[in-house]
Amino acid sequence: MSQFIDGAVVPSVSGRTAAVTDPSNGQHVSDITLADAADVDRAVAAAKRAFPQWSRATPAERSAALTRWAGILQGQAEDLAQLESRQAGKPIRLAREFDVPGTIDNVSFFAGAARNLEGKAAAEYSADHTSMIRREPIGVVGSIAPWNYPLQMAAWKILPAVAAGNTIVLKPAENTPLTSIRFAEAATAAGMPDGVVNIVVGTGLDAGAPLLRHPDVAMVSFTGSTPVGRTVLEAAATNAKRVHLELGGKAPFVVFDDADLEAAIHGAVAGSLINSGQDCTAATRAIVHCSLHDAFVAGVAELYAAVRLGPTDDPETDLGPLISMAHRERVAGMVERARGYATVVTGGRSPGGALEAGSYYEPTLITGVQRGHEVFTDEVFGPVLTVTPFDNDDEALDLANDTPYGLAASAWTRDVYRAMRATAEIRSGCVWVNDHIPIISEMPHGGMKQSGFGKDMSTYSFEEYTTVKHVMFDRTAAAHKPWHRTIFGLGG
Ligand code: NAD
Repeated sequence: MSQFIDGAVVPSVSGRTAAVTDPSNGQHVSDITLADAADVDRAVAAAKRAFPQWSRATPAERSAALTRWAGILQGQAEDLAQLESRQAGKPIRLAREFDVPGTIDNVSFFAGAARNLEGKAAAEYSADHTSMIRREPIGVVGSIAPWNYPLQMAAWKILPAVAAGNTIVLKPAENTPLTSIRFAEAATAAGMPDGVVNIVVGTGLDAGAPLLRHPDVAMVSFTGSTPVGRTVLEAAATNAKRVHLELGGKAPFVVFDDADLEAAIHGAVAGSLINSGQDCTAATRAIVHCSLHDAFVAGVAELYAAVRLGPTDDPETDLGPLISMAHRERVAGMVERARGYATVVTGGRSPGGALEAGSYYEPTLITGVQRGHEVFTDEVFGPVLTVTPFDNDDEALDLANDTPYGLAASAWTRDVYRAMRATAEIRSGCVWVNDHIPIISEMPHGGMKQSGFGKDMSTYSFEEYTTVKHVMFDRTAAAHKPWHRTIFGLGG
């Protein structure tokens, strides 16, 4: 099984299989079948067939289906949390309190937003014409999602697309597909017509690449790494598809000299360790005024030491594993190289004992990190926070912006003018003041620079998933219109 096409769970055409394993203990969770171009063709054909009916459904009809969908998911909340925790190695507390309720709230938000697709009111912008705007869905959307928040990423991709009247084929990451399929099954149970939401499960090359290049896919929406994002752009160029890219991040966490130090320390720990640091908005680069530097480092190190690594099904566990042993090796490699140019204050190890079978990695704090260092520049995507001191505000903001990424950032200060300056000058899609991480369905999420373009969540996401059409009516009923004389003077 494991493909969800045209309203039903089906095996892939090839029948090739793979296993989903729990990163916290290496145990088998489920077998899946792997899709390739033949399955993508079936899914896109189903989405294409469903488009005329779904795109013509009234906003109220689409809204009603989304409302029922949210209700069904609410009834499955605990099951979804368990499944998400196991396939992605998330502490159950995180899945219960963040991933699942956030997803359900998103469905509820888009149930309302579906009835609020707006264009400019009709008006006479020329005396002889009435103009109106139609906001229309684009067609079949092809989406590709990463493994770090499988359920939420499926929701962020699918919801604005279908709320606006598009149909969709989503390819989740092949190692974490299970909750995306459950999410789509719930859509069908809620009365969403077959073919509106389809899931193909396969690798990037076998299933992702054919989806990006499919001639019947009108738009591609991708969340993942910046290097793969570049290949998405290239593939989309083949038939000039619309593109929406949510890519990597390297969020600065700027602590000015008037900050509430205790709040900044707690914020840094929570902001850097969420989802084991496998979060595109995670606090990764603490940029700290030199007067607070030592106290900040001591405070973060003390809390890092108190973080509880443990089995993901234990509600007391704070930090789960990384997504895989291969990813842990990558993270550990970056930390080992950092020992050559900076100081690893705490962490930098994989715990043994009862956690040995999982891909766990200790919270890691690195000081003495400067511009140009690998851990300052490249995404680590693990529970690793670097600290870089600064002397004045100009230097702090310059360091914050010294990155090819621009997804998220935070500024810690009690001075409103400093906060205003930081929020204006830091080039990222979101800037928090005296907090780091919270997201909310009503507000957009998306990047600048090489973190991509376009927005997830909020009504701003409709800009990506709809197209604006100008309709112009003649008001004169004249056969020979006054403007014709510009082209053939004798006609009028
Ligand atoms: P990834 O880019 O390796 O993979 C993402 C998805 O793309 C997966 O489904 C994968 O199978 C697919 N893919 C890989 N190669 C492909 C190809 N050639 N053609 C088509 N599809 C292909 O990223 P990942 O490792 O799964 O996720 C981590 C990355 O995602 C990080 O860089 C993180 O910052 C980013 N991310 C960004 C956001 C955001 O909102 N900006 C959110 C979550 C994750």
